[in-house]
Amino acid sequence: MTSPIVIIGAGQCGARAAHALRENGWQGGIMLLGDEGIAPYERPPLSKAVLLGRKTVAECAIFKDAFFAEKGIELRLDAPVERVDRASKKVLLRDGSAIAYERLLMATGAAPRSLVLPGATLEGVHMLRSVQDALTIKQVLDVGKRIVVIGAGFIGLEVAATAIVRGCVVCVLEAAPRALIRAVPEAVAQAMVDRHLRMGVDVHFDVCIERIEGTARVSGVKLADGTFIGCDAVITGIGVFPRTSLAQEAGLDIDNGIAVDETLRTSDPHIFAAGDVCSFPHPLFKRRIRLECWRNAEDQARAVARNMLGHAEAFDAVPWLWSDQYGTTIQIAGMPAQGATTVVREAGDDARMYFALDGEGILVGASGIGQAGQIARDVRIAQELIARRARIDPGVLADRDTKLRSIPTMAVQ
Ligand SMILES: Cc1cc2nc3c(=O)[nH]c(=O)nc-3n(C[C@H](O)[C@H](O)[C@H](O)COP(=O)(O)OP(=O)(O)OC[C@H]3O[C@@H](n4cnc5c(N)ncnc54)[C@H](O)[C@@H]3O)c2cc1C
Repeated sequence: MTSPIVIIGAGQCGARAAHALRENGWQGGIMLLGDEGIAPYERPPLSKAVLLGRKTVAECAIFKDAFFAEKGIELRLDAPVERVDRASKKVLLRDGSAIAYERLLMATGAAPRSLVLPGATLEGVHMLRSVQDALTIKQVLDVGKRIVVIGAGFIGLEVAATAIVRGCVVCVLEAAPRALIRAVPEAVAQAMVDRHLRMGVDVHFDVCIERIEGTARVSGVKLADGTFIGCDAVITGIGVFPRTSLAQEAGLDIDNGIAVDETLRTSDPHIFAAGDVCSFPHPLFKRRIRLECWRNAEDQARAVARNMLGHAEAFDAVPWLWSDQYGTTIQIAGMPAQGATTVVREAGDDARMYFALDGEGILVGASGIGQAGQIARDVRIAQELIARRARIDPGVLADRDTKLRSIPTMAVQ
């Protein structure tokens, strides 16, 4: 092979994949193309430690400055890719240059959804995805500032938690009847919302927002029922969409993300996709899924690097993600939303585990809420049980005196 392996997207997945290519013995060129003007960084601290002032942007870097040169990875930080020409196997950059690729990885991630409402573009309305967004929002979160957070998903709730800890007056508005509706069982969401209420966050569900009020700057949020909530800033966390436009224009298959096969290969055999941007058929859950979490970006980076080098291994990692709010963590393994029944297991103090069993009694998801030390181990064991498609007696699962590791299971093929 003479041309380099080119990676579009110098984010979590792209950077890790570049490293993994070297670790798996690839000695040819690697080109990592980013468009944020900053070396690859971790996004999870942005809504937590960075907003709280406990971590600097520099501390979020995935690798030390010297890493890319040491590994012979050509990192270009201001190199937005505008087009992929599959016929000539080249990517075309905004500056007019073209780069030939032997294999291409699309790790373009996801972008936050914008509010589509009158007033949504007023000054003081923010979204959170990048370092720049976090630094802007951090400046807004001063003591006494009135903050409206739109969306009670993970990002919205994490921002609400940091804002109230920083002394702001915080109101969360959610269109759905409850928080974290796509991610966790109702009881887990309610337990987290209860913590927010105890901290003084005002949380409203089933809310219909009519407009964002203000002249040049936001002054408040007007609801369809006539309520007006005055505020100094609005922060939206209403979900993300996969950045598929390049792939779409290149004629690749798209299905809620860049559609890849079980080896993370797109409909073009020379092009792969991984991380937030791709949807892949999960062998355990027997359907195509797209994940928006750190662990998946890391795991798929390693898997796709091997497959780009010819290994053709199916990607079957059990999904895992976490969210930290106040001192509490939520950890999720598998797909709790696919469960037909939920089994609760006490985990000490007010920590709990929630296990999701499908219609056949097979464990498909687990959610833990509490201190990391109280739930992390059980979530990890649950991950293994989910991978084995274990069928577990709900009564035994609920009994905290029976160690999870020792529960007899029956693997179902
Ligand atoms: C504030 C915040 C907090 C989070 N907290 C958690 C958490 O607590 N737990 C958890 O599990 N997950 C969390 N996540 C999610 C996690 O960070 C993402 O799942 C992960 O970053 C996905 O990695 P990725 O590489 O697929 O995408 P990204 O990290 O988004 O990287 C994609 C990169 O591609 C670039 N790009 C896109 N198009 C082009 C182009 N045409 N040319 C060049 N470059 C391009 C983008 O600018 C970006 O730099 C959080 C995310 C955010 C935003």
